[in-house]
Amino acid sequence: MFSVSLELPEFKVVKQVFHEEFFQLNVVKKSTEERCPYCGFLTNHVHDRRTRKVRDLKVLDKPLFLFVQVNRFRCFNCDEVFTQTFESIQPNKHQTNRYREYLYEQCLGSTIRMVSEKENIPYTTLERLFYSIATEKEIEHINELEENLRDEELVISIDEVAVRKGHRYETVLMDAKTGRVLAMEENRSFESTQLLLTKNLLSQSCVETVVVDMWKPFHKAIQTLFPAACLVIDKYHVVQKVTQALDQVRKRFPTLKKGRFALLKGYENLTEQQKQQLEGWLDEHDELALAYYLKESFRDFYQASDYDTAEELLDNWINEAKASPFRAYQEVARTLEKWKASILQYFLTPYTNGRIEGTNHKIKNIKRRAYGFRNIQRFRLRVFLECTGKTNEKQAA
Ligand SMILES: [Zn+2]
Repeated sequence: MFSVSLELPEFKVVKQVFHEEFFQLNVVKKSTEERCPYCGFLTNHVHDRRTRKVRDLKVLDKPLFLFVQVNRFRCFNCDEVFTQTFESIQPNKHQTNRYREYLYEQCLGSTIRMVSEKENIPYTTLERLFYSIATEKEIEHINELEENLRDEELVISIDEVAVRKGHRYETVLMDAKTGRVLAMEENRSFESTQLLLTKNLLSQSCVETVVVDMWKPFHKAIQTLFPAACLVIDKYHVVQKVTQALDQVRKRFPTLKKGRFALLKGYENLTEQQKQQLEGWLDEHDELALAYYLKESFRDFYQASDYDTAEELLDNWINEAKASPFRAYQEVARTLEKWKASILQYFLTPYTNGRIEGTNHKIKNIKRRAYGFRNIQRFRLRVFLECTGKTNEKQAA
């Protein structure tokens, strides 16, 4: 006859029933003695017993329910009555620990709603279960981070995500080497950035380099708290500024609406046909040709092989952009001039936010799923627990 292998060694199976909708296993704890939690005395004097229905992992695609005999003992020594404890089921819980763990894993990378439907568990029960486990995991995860960040020379990255369109920002602190999220804090002011940077796990760590965009309060907070750290402005943010300037110039030529892609994309990534089209436009419009040249030559700057060459190229570029007839480029030139030292730092400590692209993508997904998250703390908890820098197939999908 078929029998379910339970793999919970503390229990003895006394009966199994196969129902249409689920499997039922009646189990009792093998050990007949229990230690009194009040005085530590061992006793086997059963005071009374009842049965608790506990859900466990599926077997052959059907839910498995354990009908657990729960004894209450009366202590020989101190006469107190106490309830038997189990390794695989927490007190008063109606799911085995391994099933709770399974549900938690299922909820990561998905929504509570979807899992509650799939597993046929009331939404509020699952919600309570998920957040109770998530809070434990958060503590575990923080301890783990503190442990392995302690002796590391850290490269951190600060970036912002818009939570609800145009509504407000969350600042995210990440480990730039792995992309794992270290912490989050609301808005992007100097005060909140300081708060973010003093979260306990960074206090003992040595922050060596910080990759950041050109947002002043970020810089001010970093310089205040980690005066010795190298500040690198993320390459992609800088290139984006220049690309946006070219896009501004393009708007002067209404006929080029379709040409946006070809203009903004790197020349080497265009098809032959796009290249020809682009050459045509540039021949036709001298001004556009100049604006385009400025964009492409800026990309050359980032190809420089050493600091001195880079500095020379950047200075030249700033002068050319300032002398150009385009306001958008003049503005970018002034911005880059202001941030020059931290932009050039890239050639000494070549870190970018490239690694955290995947993390940003994941955060966006969580945000999308979290539509209807009742509070921001839960959103942060999700981000913190899901963006660990380790790639998980389900999450990557
Ligand atoms: Zn006792």
